[in-house]
Amino acid sequence: MDLGLKDKVIIVTGGGAGIGAGITRACLEEGARVVVLSRLSENVQHFMAEVEAAKQPCVLVEAHLDDTAQCEKAIAEIEQRFGAIDGLVNNAGVNDGVGLENGTVDRFIESLRKNLFHYYALAHYALPALKRSKGSIVNISSKVALTGQGNTSGYAASKGAQLALTREWAAELLPHGIRVNAVLPAEVMTPLYKRWLETLGDPEARLKQITDKIPLGRRMTLSSEIAAATVFLLSPTQSGHTTGQHLIVDGGYVHLDRALT
Ligand code: NAP
Repeated sequence: MDLGLKDKVIIVTGGGAGIGAGITRACLEEGARVVVLSRLSENVQHFMAEVEAAKQPCVLVEAHLDDTAQCEKAIAEIEQRFGAIDGLVNNAGVNDGVGLENGTVDRFIESLRKNLFHYYALAHYALPALKRSKGSIVNISSKVALTGQGNTSGYAASKGAQLALTREWAAELLPHGIRVNAVLPAEVMTPLYKRWLETLGDPEARLKQITDKIPLGRRMTLSSEIAAATVFLLSPTQSGHTTGQHLIVDGGYVHLDRALT
């Protein structure tokens, strides 16, 4: 199946690790040119070395996305280097555990800065280019937007707002032929997830407890499975009439009868 992404310029925020790296790989497999928009960590360095060794059309544009000025500068740089933006995948984020009781208002705002403001900033700054290309936006949200988690108000508020903005932007951008959709993962093994597990006593037992509750296959979702849904939603040929959707890729974790697990 041709997804029509060959030579398209796709920005993947946090595209050098975890779910983002899965999305980058899937876009490259479709022949797209990928801009990994991320800060530079050891994980990102390894990933970029791997794609460079494979001579893939993938570049890193370094930015700390919690700084809006860096978001604006990065989009200008990408437009100048590539002359177009065909897709924006808003993916970078962190479940930073700023709770209602354990948090502070300042930490809550900081959490929105880490998880939400750059989703808006990048879509805002990339909009003129997306209008020219009739491009597509995919927002990576989370099951936490629907189920809550406890002790993570900033992250939950951000993930919920990403779903609202997906509908809002899908409506606002209809006249421009720009489609906007969201993908909601639940449990995916990534560097972020590993760090979170390690904060718990007996991470192995906790992981088993979690996977035992995932109806389809009693296993974690793979990054490649989130990526497959994302490239479908980016595809102008295969999802050309799909907009404003929230696609939950979670092995039935959120919706299926609890009696099944
Ligand atoms: P991850 O393993 O931490 O990978 C995210 C990448 O984005 C990392 O390279 C990280 O940099 C980078 N990044 C994060 N914030 C950034 C910022 N402000 N500026 C620049 N770069 C930034 O995370 P993940 O688990 O793949 O999560 C990706 C997305 O999926 C997030 O939106 C998350 O909420 C969502 N999600 C994940 C799960 C899950 O089970 N993993 C479940 C539901 C939703 P560093 O390498 O320096 O950390």
